[in-house]
Amino acid sequence: MYDIIIVGAGTAGMSAAIYGQRAGKRTLLLDGKGFGGQILNSPEIENYPGIKHISGFEFAAGLYEQASSLGAEIVYEKVVAVAAAEKGKTVKTETGTYEGKTVILATGAKNRPLGLKDEEKFVGAGVSYCASCDGAFFRDRAVAVVGGGNTALEDAEILSGLAEAVYLVHRRSAFRGEEANVKRLAQKSNVEFVLDSVPEELIGDSTVSGLRVKNVRSGESRILEVQGVFVAIGQMPDNGDFANVAKLDEKGYIRAGEDCLVSTPGIFAAGDCRTKKVRQLTTAAADGAAAAIAAVEYINSMEI
Ligand code: NDP
Repeated sequence: MYDIIIVGAGTAGMSAAIYGQRAGKRTLLLDGKGFGGQILNSPEIENYPGIKHISGFEFAAGLYEQASSLGAEIVYEKVVAVAAAEKGKTVKTETGTYEGKTVILATGAKNRPLGLKDEEKFVGAGVSYCASCDGAFFRDRAVAVVGGGNTALEDAEILSGLAEAVYLVHRRSAFRGEEANVKRLAQKSNVEFVLDSVPEELIGDSTVSGLRVKNVRSGESRILEVQGVFVAIGQMPDNGDFANVAKLDEKGYIRAGEDCLVSTPGIFAAGDCRTKKVRQLTTAAADGAAAAIAAVEYINSMEI
């Protein structure tokens, strides 16, 4: 039996593993996709205290190296269910079953889709949720980025260095992201802001050849002739499989405070998957530490 089973090997999960192992607890990390989580999509991190500049990949690799060298086991299997009994928890993956004294849910969040017809069909054929991963496929082509937050602004900036034309489509007249990013983009000759506009239709047969957008003020529609559509409209939680052991809020995030405690004793939630205001790298790492310390206290107090 493991002391701590962590669901999700992103920043929160790997931070929890580091704290768990350092407390002398046998820790297992499970993730269906590999290690790293969302930070892998960030080409540059400049807001993690103590590290002036690092790529998302380097940051994740450092966490992985630290957790695994301390003895954490990392298994790439998608968790599909968690059950809580009095003495322990059972974690089921698509291929196996694991027993643990405690469980830390660090499932992060997934990209929010636009909800357009054929969106899923076009993933990998023009629709992408990660400019730093897929931008190079659109060298010298025309692309649209949808969203008005920092991710959309960063994506538009990455793509402006590759694509011939970048349309930044946002549903309001003002961006949510930082002013400094907006100013930098406004100076780029190949970036056009398409404001007050919502995407209506993905056009194309086997690959995307256009995006129809509608101006919400004038009611007029316009077709952007693009081969790529980068969706950057925020994240959403993916905790439905765990609602039996952790109460969710109205948006689907796990109800837990700064102490990371959820509705079932011995189960904890860390990082972007839980109800919170600020979802950043720093808060994910902080949650990982808090959840692991709480799990260690629980194990010690129960003497299990
Ligand atoms: P945000 O939630 O900040 O922004 C999402 C954007 O998508 C908003 O502009 C929103 O519009 C728009 N949107 C949401 N739903 C829809 C929809 N259905 N159709 C059209 N548009 C929609 O998400 P981000 O991923 O940009 O950022 C998440 C967090 O990460 C933020 O706190 C951000 O600051 C941070 N971040 C920090 C970075 C850094 O520090 N280097 C880099 C990237 C992100 P509206 O504005 O109208 O609500």
